Amino acid sequence: MPESGKKEKDGHHHHRLSFPVLHLGGSKSSREPPQHPHASLDWRIESPPAMMHGDPETSTGALVSGQMVLKVKDIPLEVESFDAKLYIHVTHRKPFQGHCTDCANQRTELKSWTFLSEPTTLTPRTHEFPFSVLLEGHLPASTDNSLISVQYEFVAEAKPNRGSTLKLARTIDVKRALNVPELPHHSIRVFPPTNIAASVHYPQVIHPIGGNKLELRLDGIVKHNVDVKSVEYWKLKRLTWKIEEILSTVAPACEKHAPKLTTTTEEQPGQPPKKGVKRTVERVIGSADLHNGWKADYSPDGKIEAEIEYHCDPALKPSCNLKSKDGTEITHQLVVEMVVVQEYAPTNNLKHVTPTGVARILRMHFGVVLTERPGLGVSWDNEAPPIYQDVPPSPPCYAPPPPASPPALAPSPPTYTSSEIRYDSMEELMLGSGGERSSVENNNPSSGPSSAATSIRHSLGEHP
Ligand SMILES: [Zn+2]
Repeated sequence: MPESGKKEKDGHHHHRLSFPVLHLGGSKSSREPPQHPHASLDWRIESPPAMMHGDPETSTGALVSGQMVLKVKDIPLEVESFDAKLYIHVTHRKPFQGHCTDCANQRTELKSWTFLSEPTTLTPRTHEFPFSVLLEGHLPASTDNSLISVQYEFVAEAKPNRGSTLKLARTIDVKRALNVPELPHHSIRVFPPTNIAASVHYPQVIHPIGGNKLELRLDGIVKHNVDVKSVEYWKLKRLTWKIEEILSTVAPACEKHAPKLTTTTEEQPGQPPKKGVKRTVERVIGSADLHNGWKADYSPDGKIEAEIEYHCDPALKPSCNLKSKDGTEITHQLVVEMVVVQEYAPTNNLKHVTPTGVARILRMHFGVVLTERPGLGVSWDNEAPPIYQDVPPSPPCYAPPPPASPPALAPSPPTYTSSEIRYDSMEELMLGSGGERSSVENNNPSSGPSSAATSIRHSLGEHP
């Protein structure tokens, strides 16, 4: 594959063309062109849904093939020309220059077809014209979020010698299934200055729909202070998880708004300043706040065990991980926060448990990859869908990323933090809790002789 592409730089040319307004998520134009009295134009996709398998560096892409269906109803129709084009259309929701259509829209032609190049008389019947395109593996999947939308727009036109032009405008939904090991990742970490150690198993790959299980075990929650004849406990009072989505884009400037070449640029004298501005948005696409649901054992070798179901909220329309050469990147991380409260009891009276007034927030960040399920689909080069015309190879319309780019879309390694908090009331720690405060740990026969209720009754300012 040649390294150079031929991305169309003259955006103005295309903006003079009249493109139908397309639904952002749909596949049909919102304004159907007026019907021709004697003919209609449609398409029929024969290939499976367009799914890229693997990352942009290694994916063999997705093949889309089908038939243009031109129905001539009653009388012969003379068609002067019949062609189609496929564009990748990137829309920046927060463009370089606000309200500038040219800054906001980048439309690049990926492929064009000429079905009829000279006047042809079509008899009254259904005429089919096969077409196909290989969407190269480095192309981004379709996405639609608060910063950017990536759409694949297919536009076909048949011009009869009489009557209105037959038009068809559709979008192709392109998805990507990243090959990330489905085996759970295992991570162990101690939270100094405590002896608490967290052992976590979690899947590094998650999907827009469906639950995921995180297995958590906390050790080192019971400490015997032989000198002062007391036992210290760290009790888990609250656990929250959230899936964070980090979107970042580089909104490019159109020719009109591109910063001019200056010789006073500090960083790179004589070089043109960057013709784009970075945009970043973070949001939570799934979360829960738990006050019970774990097993706690406060015996001498005690531990806390929890199985947490975490998932994206489909109503928030999560965006899959994405990395494209124009600077767009979408990543995700799972953040787990635990509030643990320190309590103590004299060795000779373990029932007399007293809070020390110290609590800690234990925070864990796990990089996760949100991607489509590969499902039963296999890459186009491993099966045999109908292939028409010159596929492969397809013309290098959209430049592939440089081969030296770092491995994309790998989840970041987990990180942990622990911070101490002083609290005046248990309510403060449990802020956001609703309903009765109770915990499975209180009902666990193997748990130590204490309960949340007991802790609250004691003077919270008291220290051992
Ligand atoms: Zn502009």
